[in-house]
Amino acid sequence: MVDKFIFDVDGTLTPSRREIDMDFAVFFTEFCAEKKVYLVTGSDRDKTIEQIGEEIYSLSQRVYNCSGSDVWIGNENLYTSEWQIPEVAESWLRAECRCSEFPLRTGLHIEKRPGMVNFSVVVVMQQLVRENYTLNLIIIQKRESV
Ligand SMILES: [Mg+2]
Repeated sequence: MVDKFIFDVDGTLTPSRREIDMDFAVFFTEFCAEKKVYLVTGSDRDKTIEQIGEEIYSLSQRVYNCSGSDVWIGNENLYTSEWQIPEVAESWLRAECRCSEFPLRTGLHIEKRPGMVNFSVVVVMQQLVRENYTLNLIIIQKRESV
C-alpha cells in the first residue's frame, strides 16, 4: 500500500512560479492531513510558502527546498547546504549569458539559493516568455553547445 506521496511544486501542485488554485488547495490540504506528503522543489522556502500557503507547507512531512539543499519540517530546519558556487563557475555563467543570442533579457540571471544557483538566460518576466522559450530548452541548448 502506498502511504508516502512525493510531489513537485511548480507545474505540478501550482502553475509555474504562481500560487496554488484555491479549489485544489482545499482538496490538497485535506490530502496532506490524511497522507504522508513530501514536497520537492527548486524554489526556496519563502517562495514555496507564497505558492502553496503555510498550512500545506506545515502539513507536509518534509519539504525539500532548493532541490534538496534546504530541508524543512514546518518551521524546523533539518539541513541547509553551505555549498556556494565557485567564482570561476559564476564567471563562466555570466559569460554564457552575455553570449546568448536570445533577445529578451531582464532581471537576475544567476539567483543564489542555499546550496545551489538557478541560472537562466531568460528570467521569469512573463508567462509568454516561459511558454515560448522554456528554461529546459535553454539548458538543453547550452548543454549541447558545451
Ligand atoms: Mg516542476
